[in-house]
Amino acid sequence: MQIKPKKSLGQNFLIDKNIQGKIISACQLKPDDTVLEIGAGRGELTKIIAKQVNKVLALEIDHHLCASLKDNLRGYGNVKVINQDILSFKLRRHLLKLKNKINIVGNIPYYITTPIIEYLLKYPDKIESIILTVQKEFAKRIVSGPGPKEYGSFSCFVQYYAMAKILFYVKNTCFFPTPKVDSAVLELKIRPEPSVKVENEKMLFKIIRTAFNKRRKILKNSLKGIIPQQKLELFFKEYHVNPNIRPEELSLQDFANLANI
Ligand code: SAM
Repeated sequence: MQIKPKKSLGQNFLIDKNIQGKIISACQLKPDDTVLEIGAGRGELTKIIAKQVNKVLALEIDHHLCASLKDNLRGYGNVKVINQDILSFKLRRHLLKLKNKINIVGNIPYYITTPIIEYLLKYPDKIESIILTVQKEFAKRIVSGPGPKEYGSFSCFVQYYAMAKILFYVKNTCFFPTPKVDSAVLELKIRPEPSVKVENEKMLFKIIRTAFNKRRKILKNSLKGIIPQQKLELFFKEYHVNPNIRPEELSLQDFANLANI
């Protein structure tokens, strides 16, 4: 069946066999693993994964594509094709059935990358790793530390739960249809414990979000509405932080210290 790629669903299929193999070997899958593949598309990655693991849940939102996907994967008894949107998929229910942690793989549409990562990171204790092919600029934001313009609240959020690393870049010509931008293969290895200790996670993320909302202001001013001035002064003094510092210069540990104060 000939399928016309749908732009609205971010259907840029990875056609480079070499990159397909490289992505899956980066996943370091083991025979007893269960893999959730987000956006299985035509099933090219799915087939390579299925040969290496115990079970694959291949999620695909497009029901036309799902029909041919089921056809393509007929010989693969360990693959379950699920015609669903990842964001309404009852992930918890599936995770609870598993003995081991799950591995997640996906070449996912650019416009939905942030909500997908937010959704997956609700279950850090059930996930071993997440390998996503995403827009290059987005991947750089995720792995960035304090200083550069790429560093922001989402970098902090992801790095709180995971060790984030760009494994390699993928040229736009490796996809069909060819997208405008290059991609990167991003690895998120979920930490057994969050990277910093805080008494109140909600407070930590509220501080981070508020600070980066006004990232050009100095921290004192951007946090005026949510932290009393005397607490901020205490933070500057106790942790030897310059009172004129801007949010983008603070590390996740700095934000944690501030939240704990
Ligand atoms: N995995 C295939 C590959 O590497 O060639 C397809 C990748 S393509 C960039 C993204 C796939 O995700 C498309 O097949 C698209 O239909 C599917 N998709 C888009 N939004 C989705 C969602 N919310 N949930 C599940 N799949 C989705």
